[in-house]
Amino acid sequence: MPVRRILPTEEIPVQVRDRTEEWRRQRLDFDPAEHASALVYIFSAIGQVKEDDWDDQSSLRFILSQVPKDGSGFYSKSNLVAGYRWMVEQGDLDEDPDLLRRIRMKPMRTASGVAPVTVLTAPAGCPSACIFCPDDVRMPKSYIHDEPGCQRAEQDGFDPFRQTLGRIQGFESIGHTADKVELLILGGTWSAYSREYRNWYVQRCLDAMNCGDGSHHAQSPSLAVALERNVSARHRNVGLVVETRPDWITPDEIRHLRSLGVTKVQIGVQSLDDRILELNNRGHTVAEVRRALDLLRTAGFKLHLHWMPNLHGATPESDRRDFRRFFSDRSICPDEMKIYPCSLIAGTELHRLWQQGLYRPYTETELVDLLADVKPTIPPYTRINRLFRDIPAHHIQAGVRTSNLREVVQRELARRGTPCGCIRCREISQAQVDPDRLSIETTRYRTTLTEEFFIACTTPDPEPDRSARLVGFLRLSHIREPGTGSHAFLDELCGAAMIREVHVYGMAQGLGRGRAGAAQHAGVGHRLLNEAARLSADCGFDRQSVIAATGTRGYYAARGFRQGELYMHRDLN
Ligand code: SF4
Repeated sequence: MPVRRILPTEEIPVQVRDRTEEWRRQRLDFDPAEHASALVYIFSAIGQVKEDDWDDQSSLRFILSQVPKDGSGFYSKSNLVAGYRWMVEQGDLDEDPDLLRRIRMKPMRTASGVAPVTVLTAPAGCPSACIFCPDDVRMPKSYIHDEPGCQRAEQDGFDPFRQTLGRIQGFESIGHTADKVELLILGGTWSAYSREYRNWYVQRCLDAMNCGDGSHHAQSPSLAVALERNVSARHRNVGLVVETRPDWITPDEIRHLRSLGVTKVQIGVQSLDDRILELNNRGHTVAEVRRALDLLRTAGFKLHLHWMPNLHGATPESDRRDFRRFFSDRSICPDEMKIYPCSLIAGTELHRLWQQGLYRPYTETELVDLLADVKPTIPPYTRINRLFRDIPAHHIQAGVRTSNLREVVQRELARRGTPCGCIRCREISQAQVDPDRLSIETTRYRTTLTEEFFIACTTPDPEPDRSARLVGFLRLSHIREPGTGSHAFLDELCGAAMIREVHVYGMAQGLGRGRAGAAQHAGVGHRLLNEAARLSADCGFDRQSVIAATGTRGYYAARGFRQGELYMHRDLN
């Protein structure tokens, strides 16, 4: 499939360029030296508030109100972070992670322990023609130019190096650590881009991570070199995610994904009902979804599935049945999900059907009821990452436009007294943990080709009506019949149990710079790996493999894993 075009700077719409320039100007216009005495006062006042008394909103606001900026306004958090960095550089302040944590912007951004960097591929079509999918010529298929993140990608001409470096620098400029990067490559169908483009794209993303502070922009001579450099780079890739269609997953594609370092695949499933798939012109069947997921799971990938309620032909009741199939069908059982209720976008075939009276979007009440019904049924091994796609409301021609739908659904769940038990609703986020009070709980479930173990490390919950908080988890996969699924062609996996994911929560800490009590440094990963080794050995496996992202190879090597061709392996005895 040809890549349609990459926008040169002069083709980027003037208003997009102007907005970006204004944003940059506001950030760069602050000179900390002119505000040194105010900054000293603010940092000292922040340091005097005890941890138990600190409130992210009110404590900082109170302190800032004592020292108005230029006699009137408030200092922004980006001002404070710039001031902090300047004072550390000048030697006037020692590095103070606790102070930085209190003044950094958007504290939730890296709460899952890694800095998420999202980049878009160049505008291109898609081999399919789903009737609900927007087609904005300025964007890769299915994206709209003024969605969050899309403007930035367009500004960068969809260049992978510029997008990746820009996001890393963006995180660091607001006080976050971006040493551990989860790279999410979005845009149409990844597998449909030429192999040459995909290799180049990942290589340039890695080049951006490998170039440290951006002061040297040298292109690596090959993808292999870029991957190798990333093993010990300052910004290491700890997860690589692409999105594709189920009918493009083949043994050859699986091998290629691994050769790029991909660890997680987002699959547009949308429905598990062949009638709905056909009505919406998806171009694949449920059987193809099953086949793709069996191959991906037995190759160790994390499975992130998209589900779209309110497709053409669906009703709230048929959607309730459809959702149940995601967990009752043993080939599906996703690790993560995005629920994107179908949005009615102008110019699509679905819009035409709506104009003819042949399609009806759900009301907000119907949608909230549906989501509040299905959420509490989610098993503890699945994470619901999104509940609504953040399409600017003016593009939605009819139906629900509520961008904070997750909050509305959470309120409804609270009203009903039926909490959701998905991973996201149990994550510990930034709270401190006491390593001595952690416990390990394992959820075991069976898929078509594997026995899965979701090994969770949890902390006891002080509130009786809430479940224990999740500090970290490990996904362990045991093939049931040797030589089935991807084990039929990935020889290095023969006879091995597979670790598909190890995740420990806590605000992203710099490599080797842990905050006492943070989950990432309480030995949680070590405990999870030990438990996984015990379970695999008990089940008769004498070898474990792990699907390691490039930047985690050092971590696994230090725990006895050796690099194979596409995976790392360790003996269990
Ligand atoms: S496969 Fe995805 S990107 Fe392609 S037309 Fe369908 S929804 Fe759009």
